[in-house]
Amino acid sequence: MPDLKPRVRFAPSPTGSLHMGVARTALFNWLFARGQGGTYILRVEDTDRERSTLESEAAMLKSLKWLGLNWDEGPDAGGNFGPYRQSERLEFYKAKANLLVERNLAYPCFCSDEDLAAKRERAEAEKRAPVYDGSCANIDPVVAAGRAASEEHTIRFRVPHRDVSIEDLVRGQITFPAGTVGDFILLRPDGMPVYNFACVVDDGLMEITHVLRGEDHLSNTLRQVMLYEALDFPMPAFGHLSMILGEDKQKLSKRHGAVSVEAFREQGYQAEALLNYLALLGWNPGDERENLKLDELVEAFDIGRVNKSPAVFDRAKLDWLAGVKIREGKPEDMLEAARPFLPDESDERILKMIAAVQDHLHYAAQLPHELELLKGTRPEPDEEARTWIDDGAELFSALGAEISSLKGEFDAAAFKASIKAAGMATGKKGKELFMPVRAKITGRIHGPDLSAVAEILGSEEVLARLQAE
Ligand code: GLU
Repeated sequence: MPDLKPRVRFAPSPTGSLHMGVARTALFNWLFARGQGGTYILRVEDTDRERSTLESEAAMLKSLKWLGLNWDEGPDAGGNFGPYRQSERLEFYKAKANLLVERNLAYPCFCSDEDLAAKRERAEAEKRAPVYDGSCANIDPVVAAGRAASEEHTIRFRVPHRDVSIEDLVRGQITFPAGTVGDFILLRPDGMPVYNFACVVDDGLMEITHVLRGEDHLSNTLRQVMLYEALDFPMPAFGHLSMILGEDKQKLSKRHGAVSVEAFREQGYQAEALLNYLALLGWNPGDERENLKLDELVEAFDIGRVNKSPAVFDRAKLDWLAGVKIREGKPEDMLEAARPFLPDESDERILKMIAAVQDHLHYAAQLPHELELLKGTRPEPDEEARTWIDDGAELFSALGAEISSLKGEFDAAAFKASIKAAGMATGKKGKELFMPVRAKITGRIHGPDLSAVAEILGSEEVLARLQAE
């Protein structure tokens, strides 16, 4: 029985950090593989030697791991179809290129860069498409092989002259009319493959069944389909994902602020919130749900419900979802993300601080601001706070006395009990009791749970604030 489980791959080029749009491609492939019990493969496409770096590869892998998009086969995970870095697979590309030349489906091309540039210019001046004119296509194969032994050359694919159609999983039938592309290069003079060739050789040899990637690759797909046929590889199914735009409807880029996964991680966003948000960029579960856990996303994901139209990256919605996740979770879930923002605090205190302001948070970088009222001296009371403070002197001194007389630990419960006692002593209750105390201690009339705040401040600071002018 052939293995009918899908084999899908995520194939980043290590030329920068992991962009959110690329992370969404990784996620959709991962959800698809996990939902179908298939295999998820990570392949590093580093044949652009000038732009690819090992640092970028390491950074991308780190971001993917942090997101939790684990892979079954890859450069560091091994597998039966390796190596998983294209720069280590040059022999495969060479062997397949030779095969195509032997079958006369490809040929050595001796045109120099200058020749080609001149031809391109002429074509542009004459308003023709700048496709290769086929000068080397008809050199006798034996003569060409002789010249190739000593002359610098590329290997060019002989593009068949016919329409190419695919049934795209997202966009339906797509037909590329014959003549759209000219004979294109497979191997450069130094033996390095071009992306389209390496990609097909790898997808073929790695027995990839589904290729899900951005729609910016559609014109590559045209070339790749012809190569699959020439190399006798079974054709995978293709799904082209729509672009992600910024709120100004331009392609999402650095101009729009944070666009790399790493930047969001540094801001202290939680991986699950980012994944949930990315999943909703161009997909929905078919019902009203927006807040989904990772296993629910796996369960619900269906490539057939991926939207053809571009998705708009909406930071406010990401923040909303991130806030919902934080409120649902425990302070412990945020501890690691919070530590860098509260470097002087113990874990125990950080947990209390998160608990105090959890309702207002979207990501950990907001903590110092949210906690401002807990730090150092009390902020100058604003106007509203001032009106509550004005006639509270008796209440503040009663509360101070209660707190001073406390035996044992000063915590949220002890503070609550002290307020209650001070209320009894002064005959105040409800708003009349709590608002002046909040205003006096925090300088504001809104904010996190006052008992939690008092516990974090500690009894000395609370007393000092009660006594301050
Ligand atoms: N290395 C290509 C990229 O990062 C991969 C495209 C593909 O998935 O085939 O855009």
